[in-house]
Amino acid sequence: MSLVPPSVSNHTLAHTTIRHAHGTRPSNSRSGSAPARQRIGPKLFCLLIGHHISRSDSGQDSESVPTYYCSCGVRVLRQDDTETRVRHNVTCFVGGHHYVRMGERDGHHEFVCRACGHPLLFEAGASVYARLETFRKKVRYQCNLFGHRAHLVAERGAYTEYACRCGHSFMKRGKVEGKIKHPLICLFAGHFVGFVAARAGYAEYLCRNCGHTFCFAAWPEM
Ligand SMILES: [Zn+2]
Ligand SMILES: [Zn+2]
Ligand SMILES: [Zn+2]
Ligand SMILES: [Zn+2]
Repeated sequence: MSLVPPSVSNHTLAHTTIRHAHGTRPSNSRSGSAPARQRIGPKLFCLLIGHHISRSDSGQDSESVPTYYCSCGVRVLRQDDTETRVRHNVTCFVGGHHYVRMGERDGHHEFVCRACGHPLLFEAGASVYARLETFRKKVRYQCNLFGHRAHLVAERGAYTEYACRCGHSFMKRGKVEGKIKHPLICLFAGHFVGFVAARAGYAEYLCRNCGHTFCFAAWPEM
């Protein structure tokens, strides 16, 4: 399904250097979907495919409670029982996530993508990544296609947390046997995330459909 009819796609040229030479100032092109967003309006666009969370969309009301806004203007990722529908970060999916070290816990080294909040958990000594402070890494497509062979990491309240050797982690209600697969609804509709915990300087959110978690910091440079 394309949201961009041919007549609108010409606007895409406005983001090329050719048009810039004629003085056309590009609008926000961060997600690569600006033409469709301009045509139908940013709020409706987000309603259809989910919000886009990035560092530049976050603000901070106080030191302890970060607040986040989508570029459409809607406040997202509240630390209460409301949900945020988050669309996939295409840049991260195609180019890889940019991970920074988040800390150590439960015998694992934990990392988080600065762009989209995607976490990774590596068993200490079981991965070359566990020793690094920052790195780029793509999703392991084999796991995405056939499922993650995940081991138990920790019991966390009502949830059991698992991690694959590729680093991908999940929080599930109850025990899970066998591989953990990504449900199709998350692939097509994005993730529906709610707040679960504040820890290590991050707010952690959980998708109710797939058990995927996301961690967002109160970035001090914002
Ligand atoms: Zn939005
Ligand atoms: Zn990412
Ligand atoms: Zn995996
Ligand atoms: Zn999901």
